[in-house]
Amino acid sequence: MTPLAPRQRGELAEACQRDAGAPGKRLLPLRGGRISQGWGENGAYYARWGLRGHNGEDWVNGPADRPITPPPSPPVNWGGIPEAWDDEVFWVYATGAGVLRVGSSDGYGLYAYVMGERWHWLFAHLAAIWVMDKGVAVPGEVIACMGYSGITVPAGIAGRHLHYGVRPAEMDRGNGYGGYVDPSGVRAA
Ligand SMILES: [Zn+2]
Repeated sequence: MTPLAPRQRGELAEACQRDAGAPGKRLLPLRGGRISQGWGENGAYYARWGLRGHNGEDWVNGPADRPITPPPSPPVNWGGIPEAWDDEVFWVYATGAGVLRVGSSDGYGLYAYVMGERWHWLFAHLAAIWVMDKGVAVPGEVIACMGYSGITVPAGIAGRHLHYGVRPAEMDRGNGYGGYVDPSGVRAA
């Protein structure tokens, strides 16, 4: 298992940054994706985890814009989803710079967590990850592909999405969202 060669990662990052548009525009975790569940929604469902509502954004790709790309190299970590690239592959891009933590949990499944100076970013339910634990994330670089590991609704490939969370480095874990805040107002920096 080896991570993406630096040159391949650089090329992908360049392409993503082109797509990101004007300076100051929000860098997005998926290219051409859309939000399927927004921040703060479905409080009754999330009460079981002690949350006031959805503590992030769920992203999926629309049928017209999904990139169909074979994996350029084996991933570093797997989310237990063998068919991850038997069909489409939906690349997940780092939206900020920071040190990476890679892990898994019952709810989030395989996840990557980027710890920047001002913000932390969570990418969850991943199928596979191409970056190393304790490595450094670069904004616009491919770090993973979308999957359905952990708890998704529905379970399985029909529930495939990216859970995207943002919290300040100086977080308030008692804010009712585990310290996470509405990602829509956050720019990478
Ligand atoms: Zn979510």
